[in-house]
Amino acid sequence: MSAILPGATLGMLGSGQLGRMFAIEARRLGYRVHVFSPDSDTPAGEVANASWIAEYDDEDSLKEFANTVDVVSLEFENIDVQALHVLEQYVPVRPGPLTLHTAQHRAREKTALRNMGLATAPFHLVHSADELSRAQQELGEGILKTAAWGYDGKGQQRLSPQADAKSVWQNFGTDEAVFEGLVKFRCEFSVIGVRTEAGDMQLYGAVENAHANHILDVSLAPAPSVPESAVQRAQEMTRVVMEKLDTVGVLCIEFFLDEHDEPIINEIAPRPHNSGHLTIDAHYVCQFEQQVRAICGLPLGTTQQRQPAAMVNLLGDLWPVHGQPNWVAALSNPLVKLHLYGKQDARPGRKMGHLTALGDSVAAAETTAQSARQSLLER
Ligand code: AMP
Repeated sequence: MSAILPGATLGMLGSGQLGRMFAIEARRLGYRVHVFSPDSDTPAGEVANASWIAEYDDEDSLKEFANTVDVVSLEFENIDVQALHVLEQYVPVRPGPLTLHTAQHRAREKTALRNMGLATAPFHLVHSADELSRAQQELGEGILKTAAWGYDGKGQQRLSPQADAKSVWQNFGTDEAVFEGLVKFRCEFSVIGVRTEAGDMQLYGAVENAHANHILDVSLAPAPSVPESAVQRAQEMTRVVMEKLDTVGVLCIEFFLDEHDEPIINEIAPRPHNSGHLTIDAHYVCQFEQQVRAICGLPLGTTQQRQPAAMVNLLGDLWPVHGQPNWVAALSNPLVKLHLYGKQDARPGRKMGHLTALGDSVAAAETTAQSARQSLLER
């Protein structure tokens, strides 16, 4: 396979912040970027050379888009794989349908992982109140999740062992869900891998993640609570997943560290990940540049980290009713970097941007990042 060289046009399915950060790196490397999504006025569209605004099942538009680009990647997994099959007739799609199809359905994903011999939370696929009740009897306390199309904790409900399956199922509003047993974890962390079509692979170190209301809140790297043996095991598991799914591009695995310090896979994202945003400022080569390199068949960059780092997400809740957060106060510490995604409408829970701080230790970086975020509220 010959490499897709700078000057070529890279296609991106999805137009949110992940597509935006990809487009920034791609343009820095001398590529052109076209994004495809149903939305107008988007974070990625602001940075791209061209935006295609059409539904993912609009085959004519997909074909026209494919004919303007040299390769297609994605930043969003809630896309019907049929779109990838259409595009593949005209242009390489990386990652391809197998990775996407596996990652976008929780039961399919967990079954595939088990078949690879990798640990996941215990689970049952449920289609009715009776099936949910049986799953509760077997697994006790757990979390009911929509089988597909969920993100950031949407379509999830924690159930006590006594929860009434009938009323929960009636209100849950889906015909297919996964009920997972509750994993008692010491912490949550993620590993990001990148792989080329030739099978070359690089793995980042572990990033420790804390969530608030099911949305990522803080990421720390190197992960302070994850022993080195667990990091290595998780990296090995990530390697296995990318090889078995023949993934080309970037893939993130979210893990629980269980009571025995063993990594248990929570879920796979077949794309760059929020927990990898700190690689932009803390690593020689960030996850988005790696995505460009991988899909273009260029040599991969190092995953080496330059300095301990912390990232805090900035949700719409931080915005005052009138005006803006106090950017001047947040940036008064010179070790703080600000990333905003160009979103106009600051709704509660909406990811608007993030702050990254570097430090001599992860603890110092976290203190800096947290206080910078806090200072956004100063009036
Ligand atoms: P998810 O959307 O599957 O990543 O879930 C969002 C968050 O809910 C995770 O990051 C965990 O904090 C929590 N969670 C999800 N599944 C489980 C589980 N089986 N056991 C314990 N906590 C969970």
